[in-house]
Amino acid sequence: MATATVIGSGIAGIATALRLTKKGYRVTVFEANTYTGGKLHAIRKDGFRFDMGPSLFTMPHLVDELFQLFGEHPKDHFEYLKKENICNYFWEDGTCFTACADEERFVEEASKTFNEDSKQLRQYLHHNAQKYELTAKLFLERSLHRLNSYLNLDTLKAIASMRRLHLFQTLDATNKRYFTNPKLVQLFNRYATYNGSSPFQTPGIMSMIPHLEMHYGTFFPKGGMHRISQSLYALAVSQGVQFRLGEKVEEILVQGRTAYGIRTAIDSYESDVVVSNMDVFPTYRKLLKDQKAPEKTLRQERSSSALIFYWGINRTFPELDLHNILFTEDYQAEFKALFETKTLFEDPTVYINITSKHETADAPDNSENWFVMINAPGNYGQDWDQLKKQAKSYIVSKIKRILKVDIETHVITEHVWDPVGIEQDTSSYRGALYGAASNDQFAAFLRHPNFSQQLKNLYFCGGSVHPGGGIPLSMLSGKIVGALVP
Ligand code: FAD
Repeated sequence: MATATVIGSGIAGIATALRLTKKGYRVTVFEANTYTGGKLHAIRKDGFRFDMGPSLFTMPHLVDELFQLFGEHPKDHFEYLKKENICNYFWEDGTCFTACADEERFVEEASKTFNEDSKQLRQYLHHNAQKYELTAKLFLERSLHRLNSYLNLDTLKAIASMRRLHLFQTLDATNKRYFTNPKLVQLFNRYATYNGSSPFQTPGIMSMIPHLEMHYGTFFPKGGMHRISQSLYALAVSQGVQFRLGEKVEEILVQGRTAYGIRTAIDSYESDVVVSNMDVFPTYRKLLKDQKAPEKTLRQERSSSALIFYWGINRTFPELDLHNILFTEDYQAEFKALFETKTLFEDPTVYINITSKHETADAPDNSENWFVMINAPGNYGQDWDQLKKQAKSYIVSKIKRILKVDIETHVITEHVWDPVGIEQDTSSYRGALYGAASNDQFAAFLRHPNFSQQLKNLYFCGGSVHPGGGIPLSMLSGKIVGALVP
């Protein structure tokens, strides 16, 4: 039986292990941590449960698909509910807006709140859908680095429609072509952060991201986000995938131009195929030290990171839902701080996620589990202790100004994750949430391929390689590797 090694049990590593098992490989996953899931992990503290990383779940069919691959009924293992309201937005002048999932209602309500033409809103959403339809097949489901990906009708259609993709103007400029109300522009600009980029730099093609959210919907997994990685891990174990937890890979073994296994502190293990789910940067720098690295790819600017406060709150907030955004007054200055000065802006956009709104067991009675996140620059050796103190005071005053409450008096337990912690716990270079940023029009197309262009039998999956970061794209990378491996 052919054998495969997967380095890392992030969601992409687990998805790839499942795909290779289905192909007939005997798969072993090596994981540095004593737990699986990478960023899709959770903690419990003082009666509260917190998802550590992702909080927004889109395209759940990609999870279902893996259960179906093995003849299992997804609902027997993993359940989720579709959100009727996607997100509550708040501004300092008292404006509140609830973005609902139903497209027609969204248009009606947004047009009223922001005093924008409903026809224009409909047209914007329609154009976003077109961008997705034109590029998804080519970009998301195939390796961009194999010639046969280009020899088909989908590519020709995408090339013929290049102008409509808004590749040569920023997302901010694209949104301003459609809308005059700065709040609505800001709302749609925020989607750049879904891949850790700046709306003032990322190209207008990224307006396909709200389409994904609105068209496919947003979901909440029963039991929390952690269930995504937990349920797929259980599926992988049931299908015979071996997991070696707490066993960090130190080297990818290479002979001539072929990868033939890995070495850990415990032993060396040979296999026919090696897949790295470790961030591509440390994969080259630490596991392939003697090999020539693709320097241009590794030099790509990294996506933003995050600072997260996990707060147990001793009261409830009926005005808040699962996803809530308190917007900054100056989005441009916030992104300048993140990507240019690499520090924090004093008036940050604050994201509050509360899973106990759906899972009452996630917090004690009359309490809520707050996941409070601000975008942060990557780890470039800043004084993070100082920045964490600053961040907390910025967040507390923002909440006071908008929600009119002194939140510090309600925090009864706290845990913090910063870019250094994210880098340490997941090996993501500079603590980037999504690998490389998409801060220019070509970045998204220049990610590392899903296979090595120099070494035979070596493949790559996960948020730092093609097609990109976030749960859906990371899972798609596993699908692409599954198709590439013979
Ligand atoms: P990871 O989850 O990083 O897993 C990599 C694994 O490899 C880790 O377990 C690591 O320990 C292991 N590893 C590394 N090196 C070695 C080695 N040498 N040997 C053995 N094991 C090794 N995405 C969304 O879709 N929605 C969101 O709302 C969202 N929000 C986010 C919020 C935060 C705070 C964070 C951190 C991320 C967020 N993301 C979100 C991004 C998403 O979590 C990632 O894109 C995705 O989980 C990446 O999965 P992965 O498999 O590529 O890697």
